[in-house]
Amino acid sequence: MHGVDLHTHSNISDGTLTPQQLVEAAVEKCVHTLALTDHDTMDGLKIAQEAAQNHKIKIIPGVEISSQWSRPATKKSYGVHIVALNMQNLAPIEKALEQQKRIRAERSKQICDLLEPLIGQDIYPDVLAKVDQMPDRITRSHIAKTLVEKGIVARPQQAFDKYIKEGKKAYVKFDGLSLEDTIRIIHESGGFAVLAHPTRYDLSATNVRYLIEIFAKFGGDAVELPPAIEPASTRQMVDRMIAEHGLKVSVGSDFHGDYMPWIRLGNIPSLKEGQVGIWESF
Ligand code: AMP
Ligand code: MN
Ligand code: MN
Ligand code: MN
Repeated sequence: MHGVDLHTHSNISDGTLTPQQLVEAAVEKCVHTLALTDHDTMDGLKIAQEAAQNHKIKIIPGVEISSQWSRPATKKSYGVHIVALNMQNLAPIEKALEQQKRIRAERSKQICDLLEPLIGQDIYPDVLAKVDQMPDRITRSHIAKTLVEKGIVARPQQAFDKYIKEGKKAYVKFDGLSLEDTIRIIHESGGFAVLAHPTRYDLSATNVRYLIEIFAKFGGDAVELPPAIEPASTRQMVDRMIAEHGLKVSVGSDFHGDYMPWIRLGNIPSLKEGQVGIWESF
């Protein structure tokens, strides 16, 4: 399992390395199986595959899809990230991503419009400059970075806490694919659906349990293991639910380059006895 990293970002979304640099960095870290999983886009895949040609590394087609689920009891809808891996036929997923990209492009403009009266300026042109004028690549990370560069906040985290996370004045929900449709489309493309970072959604333990339950019910394939820095009790909770629902596991660093320098490429948690890696199905 060492040498597998199935959750990484390039500068096609909010990472800082180009897909080519990411592949080279992965080779250096002895990663032999790498998935590039940018937010709602597979535009970096070909470049990564080309960069891998001269090296001993396998590139797994991937994407991190901004999805949503709801709980009838609360009627609230929650965001969730689904990592799609190893698609064989890209047509169904690329079609779904077209709509996701439109939503992403519109949402970033809406966020900047909501920010304008709060900060006294329109940062949209600067945000757009960060993504080579391609609005469908904008993430909240780009907006957070721009707010830091303008001296409005000291760190990206502050931009989220003060303005753009859920509950704050410039928050805009990502009204994208439902969890059920996401899993269905991934399967139509011959891929596997992975529930990304299950303990990073600010959900109660009850809601995490419910999320994993419906993910399994909708046919989800694997759950990403929490990184080793998370408390042992968190990992144990996730391990129990994986076992309860007979799910496989995935491992990924969620590497973003210099944007999150504390995350190291190829740094992934170990499997517990009995757990089966999704990559064994590739
Ligand atoms: P988006 O998909 O546009 O909502 O952007 C989500 C991305 O923003 C995540 O994948 C992270 O890379 C980043 N992000 C989310 N929350 C935070 C945070 N609290 N601090 C810094 N970056 C964050
Ligand atoms: Mn990100
Ligand atoms: Mn994510
Ligand atoms: Mn990610």
